[in-house]
Amino acid sequence: MNSAKKKIAFKTLGCRLNQYETDALVSDFDKAGYEVVDFKEHADVVVVNTCTVTNQSDQKSRNTISQAARNNKGSVVVVTGCMANNYKEKLEGEDKITYVVENNRKGSILNLVDGHFGGELIHPEKLHADVFSYQVVDKSLHTRSAIKIQDGCDNFCTFCIIPTVRGRAVSRPLPQIIENVKNTLANGFKELVITGVNIGRYEWEDKRFEDVLEAILSVEGDFRVRISSLEPDGFGDDFVKLFSHPRMTPHLHLCLQSGSDKVLLRMRRMYDLKQFEHTVNLFRAQYPDFNFTTDLIVGFPDESEDDFQESIDAVNRYNFGHVHTFKYSVRKGTRAERMDNHIPDKIKTERSTRIREASEDSRDRYLNSFLGKTETVLIEGINKQQVANGYGEHYIPVHFKAEGLEKNTFARVKLVKVEGRGEDARVIGELVG
Ligand code: SF4
Repeated sequence: MNSAKKKIAFKTLGCRLNQYETDALVSDFDKAGYEVVDFKEHADVVVVNTCTVTNQSDQKSRNTISQAARNNKGSVVVVTGCMANNYKEKLEGEDKITYVVENNRKGSILNLVDGHFGGELIHPEKLHADVFSYQVVDKSLHTRSAIKIQDGCDNFCTFCIIPTVRGRAVSRPLPQIIENVKNTLANGFKELVITGVNIGRYEWEDKRFEDVLEAILSVEGDFRVRISSLEPDGFGDDFVKLFSHPRMTPHLHLCLQSGSDKVLLRMRRMYDLKQFEHTVNLFRAQYPDFNFTTDLIVGFPDESEDDFQESIDAVNRYNFGHVHTFKYSVRKGTRAERMDNHIPDKIKTERSTRIREASEDSRDRYLNSFLGKTETVLIEGINKQQVANGYGEHYIPVHFKAEGLEKNTFARVKLVKVEGRGEDARVIGELVG
């Protein structure tokens, strides 16, 4: 079908995995001759890739769907992502939404839209279901590209809706991953972000997570590898050795969730604080500047003031480069929903503020510890004043004067000053080569 004239816009909420899937869809539609436009612009098709991990994500997803329908009257509105799985029947009943596509069929949305404009209406449930059938990312809104190696999860942490909306754990065949890596590098990407839902639990034939990383690191090319987010229970002590490879970036987003063993047990997490500390010390013994970032939930049912204080102590002890703080959010159908002693929102908000203060202090300490040191920054953008921005290998946001340099290239930068605090903190640097 001649679709050249059709305009399509995308809006993504949630995690890096969702972002990767949108990037792949952008590449798909671009190749099929659609004009990919900004979400603010009127389009013939709008795809909203939703998130449902918390109440706030639900609300943001609903607002985005309403905005998409309001700004594109008469256009095709496709809702996909985790909220599409979580509230499918309800969303299918809303007139403003044309199609609701579940996560496992998201990769086939081009066929659905082509069919729509070709007069061959396809029911989304008739689409091909494969969580790995995504186009290689070539036209992306970002400098780094994710490589999806796994989907779903079997852990069933008591607060988490993800196993319900993303399904059971599945691992992508290793040859497919390596082909995807080679094609993505051929498209000019310099940083690959290994992503999935619970990637540490990768299992394909006799291959485990470490095998996937070794295979990716052995591919020829000028690139580096970053791991998106990892559960602390998904790897052995040998894992630390992989980070001595020059392409591995010394940064892990290791999801702690709570500093209290009592709360970790009620969350049904697969590790305790001693194990988490062992991992942090193992890495820092070999790589003193290693950057650990993390997620923390405050206000989990029955979390006492003492339990909460243990989370604050953990932030102060582990020198995290950044802490994402979440107020516990009841997810329908999870075990935690049925637990006693849910914490009032006022207390959750107060605890969230205290954790943010501690995490901002931790971030300040971490960023300031790099002053005078040199980072290899991947340039993500250069503004009119010739100031470049990008991240160093330790996942430090750096801004520096960059006459004559180009986007998507590496630059050696000496770090001289920290500006701002918390999420907005960044480091000012000077080019050294
Ligand atoms: S490991 Fe736990 S928190 Fe992470 S996706 Fe699985 S169930 Fe959710």
